[in-house]
Amino acid sequence: MKCLLSVDVEDWFQVENLKQAIDKESWDKKTSRVERNIDLILELLDQRNTKATFFILGWIAERHPLVIKKIHNEGHEIACHGYGHDLVTHLTNDKFRQDVSLTKNILENLIGEEVIGYRAPNFSITDWSIEILISLGFKYDSSLFPIVGHSRYGKLKKVTIPNKSIFELQNGFYQVMLSYLDIGGLKVPWAGGLYFRLIPYELFKRGIEKITEQKGLYIFYIHPWEFDPGQPKVNNIKLNYKLRHYTNLKTTESKFKRLLKDFNFYRIKDAISI
Ligand SMILES: [Zn+2]
Repeated sequence: MKCLLSVDVEDWFQVENLKQAIDKESWDKKTSRVERNIDLILELLDQRNTKATFFILGWIAERHPLVIKKIHNEGHEIACHGYGHDLVTHLTNDKFRQDVSLTKNILENLIGEEVIGYRAPNFSITDWSIEILISLGFKYDSSLFPIVGHSRYGKLKKVTIPNKSIFELQNGFYQVMLSYLDIGGLKVPWAGGLYFRLIPYELFKRGIEKITEQKGLYIFYIHPWEFDPGQPKVNNIKLNYKLRHYTNLKTTESKFKRLLKDFNFYRIKDAISI
């Protein structure tokens, strides 16, 4: 088991890059594309008999319960991505506890199983939020992405980062770090998302091979809206946000198919239990 696959389940209008133009109050009026995109991902995974971990927003689970049940029934892991995609760094301790515990309950009631994994919106993890996750019964966090140059990504200041992808933070609680490639001392994001869409596939593939050699395990992430070049286009946002969101959406599906063909992927919980 060398590669783990994760999907962060949110709709196109909930992403941080479009926040300037779309306020939360308008979410319910937007045309949802998440079911269509999840169906496509489930089909691609099924073609390769691959199981993944899906980090799901509570807001989505409340409005699309059958989709969550479908993901679960097909053997994938259901995990928590918070309720309304608020960055952890923007929440108080109490608000974070409410946000995550509400979402954990919504998901557990839907699938009838314990939810043990958490990923922070935009990887905005903090030291204090880890303590709360442990107290709520989570077994792992998969939010640490220790790369340079991204202001919204969080940090665990108390943690010395080891040279392996999964490590124990406290007794029985694990960090499942997003993958990066060391290039001349620079940590380059190599876990999916925009970088997967930007970097030519053959090069990306070689990077994954290197990471599994160096760290034993590779962790990939993608979003449903990244498979959807037909999603409504938002124009009144900063150019760099626009580029981050819309670049190469047309290439995701074909690259993802190649990825599933070239590597065997597993759920995060499969790696935690070993
Ligand atoms: Zn997200």
